[in-house]
Amino acid sequence: MTTTVLGYPRIGPRRELKRALESYWAADIDAAELDTVAARLRGATWRTLREAGVEHIPSNTFSYYDHVLDTAVMFDLVAPRFARIAEGDDDRSAELRRYFAMARGCDEAAPLRMTKWFDTNYHHLVPELSPATRPRLAGRKPLSEYVQARGLGYETRPVLLGPLTLLLLSEGSPDAPRGWRPLELLDGLLDCYAELLGELASAGAGWVQLDEPILATDAGQEVLRELGDAYERLGGVAQRPRILVAVYHGPAGEGALETLKRTPIEGVALDLVRGNAEDVSKVGGLGAKSLVAGVVDGRNVWRADIPAALSTLASLLGLAGEVVVGTSCPLLHVPYDLEVETGLDPSVRDRLAFARQKLDEVVLLGRALAGAEDVEEQLAGARQRSSERAPRAFTDQRVRARLEALGQAPARPSYRQRERARAPLPPLPTTTIGSFPQTGEIRAARAAHRAGRITTQEYEREMRAEIDRVIALQEDIGLDVLVHGEPERNDMVQYFAERLDGFAVTDHGWVQSYGSRCVRPPILYGDVARPAPMTVEWTTYAQSRTDRPVKGMLTGPVTMLAWSFVRTDQPLAETARQVALALRDEISDLERAGIRHIQVDEAALRELLPLRGRDHAAYTAWAVGAFRLATSGATAGTRIHSHMCYSEFSAIAPVIDALDADVTSIEAARSQASPAADLAGAGFDRGIGPGVYDIHSPRVPTVAEIEQALRAALEHTEPERLWVNPDCGLKTRGYAEVEPALRAMVEAARRIRAEL
Ligand code: GLN
Ligand code: ZN
Repeated sequence: MTTTVLGYPRIGPRRELKRALESYWAADIDAAELDTVAARLRGATWRTLREAGVEHIPSNTFSYYDHVLDTAVMFDLVAPRFARIAEGDDDRSAELRRYFAMARGCDEAAPLRMTKWFDTNYHHLVPELSPATRPRLAGRKPLSEYVQARGLGYETRPVLLGPLTLLLLSEGSPDAPRGWRPLELLDGLLDCYAELLGELASAGAGWVQLDEPILATDAGQEVLRELGDAYERLGGVAQRPRILVAVYHGPAGEGALETLKRTPIEGVALDLVRGNAEDVSKVGGLGAKSLVAGVVDGRNVWRADIPAALSTLASLLGLAGEVVVGTSCPLLHVPYDLEVETGLDPSVRDRLAFARQKLDEVVLLGRALAGAEDVEEQLAGARQRSSERAPRAFTDQRVRARLEALGQAPARPSYRQRERARAPLPPLPTTTIGSFPQTGEIRAARAAHRAGRITTQEYEREMRAEIDRVIALQEDIGLDVLVHGEPERNDMVQYFAERLDGFAVTDHGWVQSYGSRCVRPPILYGDVARPAPMTVEWTTYAQSRTDRPVKGMLTGPVTMLAWSFVRTDQPLAETARQVALALRDEISDLERAGIRHIQVDEAALRELLPLRGRDHAAYTAWAVGAFRLATSGATAGTRIHSHMCYSEFSAIAPVIDALDADVTSIEAARSQASPAADLAGAGFDRGIGPGVYDIHSPRVPTVAEIEQALRAALEHTEPERLWVNPDCGLKTRGYAEVEPALRAMVEAARRIRAEL
C-alpha cells in the first residue's frame, strides 16, 4: 500500500510567499530574491512530505499567484493585451511583469477576470481565449520544478491542470465570435500537453498528475466524448510518464469514471469524502489501473475517522491494480500545521487535523492497510476517538428550543409596502459596501491591543477617532448612506466568529484566497449562540456623528459557513439557522438603537452553490431560509441590504431574488456579464447596486467610465432602484485611491440625477 497527497499549501507556513510577493511588488526585492524564496518553500514542502513518510510526492503544486494562470502562461494562452507588456525584454523580471500584469493589472492592461475555484474560497484567474489563440509549449515550469526536486533528492509526480478543466474554466475574449467556446482549442492544446509529457518523461518523471476537477460538475458531464478522446490521445503519447487523472471537489459525474476507465491512462484519483467508494464497484472496478483513494478530507480540518476510512479502503481492495491512500483533493484549502495553534481550547484542538496532520493520517492508513504491526497503538487511539461523542459543552439547548419554536419565520410585508414606510432617498442613492481602508495605524493599534501594549480603552478611542474620520470624509464626498468603515474588524467572518459561541479562531491558520491574500477561516465546532450584541456600539457611535443614515454591517449565515471550517455532524442547513438566529437578534438590537439600514453580507452565496444542478434546489431552500430567518424580524421601515462578491449571476439570480433584501449590491466591474440584466431577467424588482468600479485593482476610475456603467444599468432598472456603489469593500485599498474614486462615483451619480 502506498500513500500520496494531491497537493500541499504553498503560501508558506509563515506566509513567506505573501511577504516575498508584496516586497517584490513594492520593488523592495528583485526577481532573483523572489525566486530564491520560492525555491526554498518548494524544498521545504517536499522535505515535510518525505519526513512524514508520504511515498509519492507531488511537485509543481507551487505557484506565484495561481495555478490556472501558470498553466495558461505555460501554453501561451495569453490575451493579446498582455503580449505587448515588456515586449522585447526577455529577462526574468520582464517575464514576471507580464505574469503579474495578467493577475493584477498594470497601467497598460486590465487584469484577467478572477473567479472562485469550484466551491472553494480560492480564486483563480480566467484565461481569455479566442480563435486566434495558438497554444504552444512556451514555458517549462513543471519541468523545472521537477528538476529542482530531483536535484534535492526527491522523486516527484508533477501536477498539471488537465486540458478539459483548463479550457472549461477559460472564457472567450470579447473579440471572439459569439458562441465560440475555448474548448475548440482542445486539439492544438493536446499537442502541447503531449510535448510536455515527452519532456517530463525524458527528464525522468515516472508519473504525472492531471487535475480534472471539472468532471465533478455539470460542465464536465457535457464533454465526456472530448474527455475520452483527449485521454486516449495523451495515453497514446509514445514517451510519457504514467498518467494519474484526479477528480475532486465532488464525485466524478455519471459516465466520467467509465470514460476514464476506457482510456489508456494508468491511474485515477477520486474524492471519497464528498464522493462514494461504491462508484468504483459500479463501473466494475478499474482493472489494472491505480486508484488514489481520497479518504482524508482536503477541504475540512477535522481529524479523519480512521476506522471508517480503513473500511472504505478495504472495500476497494481488488477493484484496482493498486489502491493508494490519498487526500480527497489538494491540501491547498487547509492551514499548514496544528502544532503551532497553542491557543486553541484542547477540547476543540483534539478534534482537528491541518495539512501536516493529514499527512500523518494518510501515512497511518497506508501502514495499517499494509498490515504494519507498529501502528496498533495509534489505531486503538483512533478507534477510541471516533467512538467518542462531542463534549456536552458544544450543545446549546436554548438555541435549539428557540429555533424549533420559530420554525419558518413569517415573511416581511411586500417590498412596495416596505418602501412606503421609509424615509425617501434621492434617485441613484450612493453608498459603499462597508469597509474603508485598513490603514497601517489601524492594524498597528489592533496588534498593540492584542499584545497588551495598549488598553482596551485606548484601542477603542483610536477606533472611534477612525470612525469620526471616515464619517466626516463620507459627508464631505457627499455619499447618501454612510458606513462606519469596519476599522475594528480584522475580517468580516472572524470578527463575528470571535463574538459567537460555537466558533474557535486560530492564530496561524492561514489559507490562500487569491495571490498573496490569505484568510484565516474560523472553526465552527458547536452550537452557535450570541452571548451579547456584536456591532451595536460601533454602529450607533457612527450614527451619533452624522445626520445621514448609517448602515449597520453584518455577515450573513451562508458566508459565515462558507468561510469557516464547519462541523460535519449535522446538516449545513441546521448550522445556518443557528447563525441566522444570532443575526436576527443583532438586527433587532440595531433597530432598537435607531439604525435604519442594515446590510447582511452574503459574499459567498454563489460559492456554496453546489457544483451539480441537481443539488441546487436543496441548497437554495436552506440558504434563502437562513437569510430570511436572519432578516425577517426587521420592521418595514428598515432597509435590509445585502452584498455578494464575484458571482456569476445567471445561475443564482433567482436565489438573490428570493432573499427579499431591499437593496442588493453585487460585484460586476470585473465580469463581462451584466448582473442588472440577469437580475431583471429573474424578475427582481428591488434595489440593486451593480458595482461601478473594480476595487481589486489600484486603478482610479474616471467619472465618464462610472457614468457609462450606470447608464448601462439604467437600461434594466429605474433610477429609484439603482444604487451607486463600488463593487466590494475598500479595506484592501489606500486612501490615495479610495478618495478620488468615491468622488468620481458621486460625481457620476450627480450628473445622471441632473438629467432626471
Ligand atoms: N462589508 C464587507 C466589506 O466592505 C464586505 C466584504 C466582502 O464582500 N467580501 O469589507
Ligand atoms: Zn464583496
